[in-house]
Amino acid sequence: MLNNKRRGLLIILSSPSGAGKSTLSRRLMKWDPSLSFSVSSTTRSMRSGEENGKDYFFVSEEEFSKQVADGEMLEHAQVFDCSYGSPKKPVENAINHGEDVLFDIDWQGAQQISNSALQEHVLSIFILPPSISELKNRLEKRGQDTHDIVKKRMEKSWDEISHWAGYDYVVINDDLDKTEAKLKSIVAAERLRRSQQPGLLDHVRTLQTEFEKHNDL
Ligand code: ADP
Ligand code: 5GP
Repeated sequence: MLNNKRRGLLIILSSPSGAGKSTLSRRLMKWDPSLSFSVSSTTRSMRSGEENGKDYFFVSEEEFSKQVADGEMLEHAQVFDCSYGSPKKPVENAINHGEDVLFDIDWQGAQQISNSALQEHVLSIFILPPSISELKNRLEKRGQDTHDIVKKRMEKSWDEISHWAGYDYVVINDDLDKTEAKLKSIVAAERLRRSQQPGLLDHVRTLQTEFEKHNDL
């Protein structure tokens, strides 16, 4: 029987805050409900509309430090003066079942995962805004952060953007529908990579056996 099991992908989306990662992640999850979202732990406070356990695990500094000390984080970093990290267990479980995991994390986390034992599974995508003024518009339009926080995020945006060239793919999020379509194409193509399909070798061997039996082709 054809073994069409794939190796799971770790799909990492990074961008400066406000460029559209969360919106695009939600759209990808809707497109393919088999994708699992890596719910990060964070010490930042919850925004209105966010749900503990769905958007993030909102934890104290003490809880976060313990998770790191206990080796429970695949990666972790300080972003905008708060701690963020991706719990390891759910990612390992998904990968062991050949399932894909979607990450919305910064460049530090992307680098750590890309240098980890799971590097062969990584598909990294950087989202650029169409302009810096539009980035500011989006942060303000989101209406979730105070003026000071928006200012701080804008000040840090170049730190994040400066890492764009370390990613496998870079997409400019101008029109949302078009960007979503581009991300879907990237994921669909990456799933078909030879290296992602370990069952191909068996299939080709079966074809060879069948071919060799047919002397009358
Ligand atoms: P991030 O997760 O990168 O911080 P969000 O997904 O929260 O960014 O997006 C920030 C704001 O910009 C949200 O209000 C979102 O609806 C809006 N947004 C995202 N992509 C686009 C786009 N292509 N055009 C216009 N607005 C967008
Ligand atoms: P926000 O506070 O807007 O949700 O996220 C702020 C930044 O932290 C974003 O760039 C987001 O991608 C990043 N981030 C969220 N979770 C993690 C994580 O688990 N690890 C790392 N390294 N960055 C994260």
